[in-house]
Formats: sequence, structure tokens, C-alpha cells
Amino acid sequence: MVKRTSIDRKGSRSDKSFRPKKRKPPLRPNQMESETTYTSSAAKKSSGQLHEVSYDPNFSYCILQFTAVFAAISDCVVCRTCGGDIKFLKSSSRGLGFKLNVFCTKCDDNIQSVPSSPLINTAYEINRRFTFAMRLLGKGLKAMQLFCGVMDLPSCIAKATFDPIMKNIEEASTVVAKASMKAAAAEEVQESANQDKLESSQNGIVVSGDSTWKKRGLSSFFGVATLIGYITGKVIDFVVKSKYCEACEDHEKQEGTTEYESWLESHQQDCEVNHTGSSGEMEADSAVEMFQRSLENYGIKYEYYIDDAETKTFSSIMNAQPYEDLEVKKKECAGHVHKQNNNESLNSKIWKIAPKCTPDSKRIVDVATNIAVCTFNDGAEALLRMERLLGITIGYEGYHYCLGTNANRLKHARIEATNATKEARASCRLERNKQQLFIEKEGVQYGAEMGD
Ligand SMILES: [Zn+2]
Ligand SMILES: [Zn+2]
Repeated sequence: MVKRTSIDRKGSRSDKSFRPKKRKPPLRPNQMESETTYTSSAAKKSSGQLHEVSYDPNFSYCILQFTAVFAAISDCVVCRTCGGDIKFLKSSSRGLGFKLNVFCTKCDDNIQSVPSSPLINTAYEINRRFTFAMRLLGKGLKAMQLFCGVMDLPSCIAKATFDPIMKNIEEASTVVAKASMKAAAAEEVQESANQDKLESSQNGIVVSGDSTWKKRGLSSFFGVATLIGYITGKVIDFVVKSKYCEACEDHEKQEGTTEYESWLESHQQDCEVNHTGSSGEMEADSAVEMFQRSLENYGIKYEYYIDDAETKTFSSIMNAQPYEDLEVKKKECAGHVHKQNNNESLNSKIWKIAPKCTPDSKRIVDVATNIAVCTFNDGAEALLRMERLLGITIGYEGYHYCLGTNANRLKHARIEATNATKEARASCRLERNKQQLFIEKEGVQYGAEMGD
């Protein structure tokens, strides 16, 4: 092995003999930002629990005009070693992140390097945070590029970086949503035991089903079916069904060719289509799926199903006989308006995060439903839980924003709950009047769903 000469930071030369060492090639910028190990190992460690989230009171971001600010600082400071002028330079720019180098013009030395944001292994935290924030607003890569352009921020992250970041968001949101629904199921069991609203033995809980659709043209492409606990009003399970796969559509023209056959084989496991029947069947199939996994997921049975809409969902559940020793029964619901409003707010949350106008992908609908479900169940604190798993530092502003949002939400929920109790006691005629009032006040039109 040849002897190599290395130059250390101070510029003095030293001869060292090197053992032949296998060196990994340095990561390219996109690879550095595509880091996914942090979230997957944090997800494993979280073990399905709803964790308390703390924050760092000294952490926050600000936007500043780089040249003006650092030119002004340069004018005021000198090098500690030689008294020379100090310059501030950017390097290692990736998306919104960069390294700030403090440089002495006289010693020609890089005195200090500070990352502009914390690093998650190799990735700048700010890029992950930015992608997450935009997703919450229902926006993707194009909107991020527009935002950066208009804000005069450095050229935004690439598609190659965006996809792994979305994968992290998918993983973090799945873990938090699962933990949230598990806790909601346990709460529902507890509450029904406390309130004894079941008027029966404690064989299982009461759930209601709902579904919402993302349409393109006249047909539905994505459906989200949910099960909601009767007493808590929280989502305890959901299924996302897709009749659409972008990759399949792209390859449609090649159908019948040998290339297509080999592509299809490799595509099977990634294909996003998981339903082929009608939308009505989608709701029924999803409900059956959720009943069949209640014991495995939560160790509980759903004894009553609230079916207002007279769909075939209930008969599908009956036919599937999800429990060996328990027959699922149908239950009429008195708090109809309350339930309707609850479902509306969950569904609108989902489609705000995955707007009906964005490019179609089941993945986006999965992520949107995860986020909508856990914020619906637990409020903005769920966002902090996801940020924690993503490796995003929770600072003062972020933490207090969520606390403030939660306080408002709880106040609103208390008013809603009081109304719901009143409504449950009221006669059908009163209830119908209230519906009318609500529609007039909010200007909401439910169409056929409410027109009973
Ligand atoms: Zn110097
Ligand atoms: Zn496909």
C-alpha cells in the first residue's frame, strides 16, 4: 500500500501509513436527504403506545435575508486567532438546509461549521418538516416548489428526495394512527362498562360505520371506510380501498406484450388496487374486514352495529359471522345528527389532506387518513407525536400552537357533547327541526344523506 500524505485542518503535513480499508463511496446529496432509518427504528421503539410529547423551549426557526444579516455581522467581528476579517459562507446546500461556514480571510481557515437545521442522521430536519407541513395543508412537491420560488428560498428538494420523505411520513403517521385507534378502542370498552349504555352483558361494544369517497369523473377511485365507537365518537378502525393504480394505468397500452407480462409480475406486490367491485360493496367488504380483525387487533368484539342508512353493510357483517360465539346485532341510533356531524368533520379532514384535485395515489389517501384519524381522536397533540417519530425537533412555537388548538377543540367538543345528549333525548320532530336549523345556520347541504 502506498503511503499517503494527509493535510490536517491547521495545514501541517503528516505522514501516516494506512491500512487498506474499504471505504464507502460518499453519499450523494439526494441520498443524504433520503434517510429513512431514523423513523423506522423510532417506529419500532414506540411499540404502539401513545407517548407524551415534550418540547425544547430554546428551539425555533426564523426566516432571514442571508446576505444582509451576515454582511452586517462580518463588519462587527474579527478572527480570534489573527484578528483577520470573518466571512460567512454557505455550503452543502440540500433543499432548505445548508451548512454555515465561518471563515477567516487571513488564516484562510474554516473556523466553524454549523448546520442551518438539526440533522436526522444525514438529512436536514427542515426538509422533512417542510414536507410534513405542506402535506397537512394538502400540498405536495409542486406546491413546495412554488412556495420556495415565491419566498425566494433555495431551489426546493428533488422528487428523488421527496419520495423517501413521504415514506417516512407514511410510516410515522401509520404508527401514531394505530396507537390512537387502539387507545380509542380501549376507551370505548371502558366507557361502555362505566355508563352501562349497552343494556346487555359486556360481550362487546357498539360501533357505527361510515364511508367517504374520492371520485374522479363519475366513478369512485378511493374509498375510506371507518368504524366509530358509539360512546366516545372516536375512530377505532379504518380501511382504505383503491380501484386505481397509476402504474397500471401507465402500462395499460402495453397489455398483451411480453414486456407487460414481466412488468405485471414484478408489479403485483406494489399494485395499489385492492378492490374491484362497486362502491357499495367497498363499504360492506371493509366493514367485514374490520369486524374480523377486532379480536386480533384489540382483543374486543363489536356486538352492535349502528346502521342508519339501510345499506347492505349490516347483512354482510351478519353473513360473515366474525365471532364464533357472538351474533352481531343491529342498533338504532338516537344521536343521529351528532354522528352525522362527526363523520362529516372526519371526512372533510381526510380530503383536506388528500384533496380531490391532487394526483391520485393510494399512498396519499393512506397518509391523509392516518393523520385525519389521529388528530380527530386526539387533537393536535397527534401532530407532535408524528413529528417526534419523524425526527423533527419540537420547539416552543410548535408545542404551544398545538396546545392552543387543543384547548379550542376541547371547548368545542364540550359544547357538541352537551348538544348531543340533548338531541338524544329529544323527539324525532325536534331532531328534524334541529337538522333544519343546522343546515340554515351552516349553509351545509347533505343532500340525500340527510333528506329523510
Ligand atoms: Zn484568522
Ligand atoms: Zn397496479
